[in-house]
Amino acid sequence: MTAEERPTREPSAEETGVTVPAGLPMQVPSAGLPREVRIHEVGARDGLQNEKTTVPTRVKAEFVHRLAAAGLTTIEATSFVHPKWVPQLADAAELVPLLADLAEDPGMRLPVLVPNQRGLERALEMGVREIAVFGSATESFAKANLNRTVAESLAMFEPVVARAREEGLRVRGYLSMCFGDPWEGPVPVAQVVSVARRLHAMGCTELSLGDTIGVATPGHVVALLDELTSGGVPVGELAVHFHDTYGQALSNTLAALGRGVTVVDASAGGLGGCPYAKSATGNLATEDLVWMLHGLGIRTGVDLVRLSSTSAWMAEQLGRPSPSRTVRALTHREQ
Ligand SMILES: [Zn+2]
Repeated sequence: MTAEERPTREPSAEETGVTVPAGLPMQVPSAGLPREVRIHEVGARDGLQNEKTTVPTRVKAEFVHRLAAAGLTTIEATSFVHPKWVPQLADAAELVPLLADLAEDPGMRLPVLVPNQRGLERALEMGVREIAVFGSATESFAKANLNRTVAESLAMFEPVVARAREEGLRVRGYLSMCFGDPWEGPVPVAQVVSVARRLHAMGCTELSLGDTIGVATPGHVVALLDELTSGGVPVGELAVHFHDTYGQALSNTLAALGRGVTVVDASAGGLGGCPYAKSATGNLATEDLVWMLHGLGIRTGVDLVRLSSTSAWMAEQLGRPSPSRTVRALTHREQ
């Protein structure tokens, strides 16, 4: 192992100054909510992809290891999108081998984003067992992000999903702009349902409903989930991906849990701004989510001290404080 590859020494909770007040949050369960939630951690992919600073590969590897050590079991590792489009994740082929020890654990899921057939082939060659494709509910975002119409992008995903399923991979379908679009404004629920049903029918094993600009509110979330489930997409195959741009991410999550959703996307330390809303606040911070879930007596398997220490450490690597309220509240030096 060269000095470049050697992981940085893991700082203790004292060094990062993180402590959780004893006995808090109080655990007070609420009726009608799941007992357990699986957090789909997106900090290493969605988070770092939207940060200005490009993090060295060995720091990314250390980050993913630390997230796993904090108890996260689904960690989206990187993206095989062309480096020209996402320079922050241009080192995907170097990073994946550094995660081989984690990948050996059957309880650990390390999905990677693939844009097309070529990306899938690269991922398969590297032994990846789970992929994600990135679709759009709106024509404007499909055009801006994929340079295709919605129909053309679905046609592009179809053989990718089919081949991945043939190889026994799990396939997550991201659906962006489910609750509003920066160019089009409102997005009709029926339009989202229509695209979601297509992704489900082509074999995606999980659909992540993305509020990419953070404009959703809880009633809207319930309306979309109800339309999707009555349209034949089982709630057990749905995940929610909320952004906190307008401070609604936790309210929306709670509404989704009340409708039976048990997979929630979140980003450690709130990594990743919101590139389409020019806001510092993007992804729901995993720590903020964990604080609410643990308060509700919902199991996550996450150790909040270790996770917050990791985010405090990553904030130092990026040279700016974490936007997570919980990380700030638990970090002494911030007070
Ligand atoms: Zn996001």
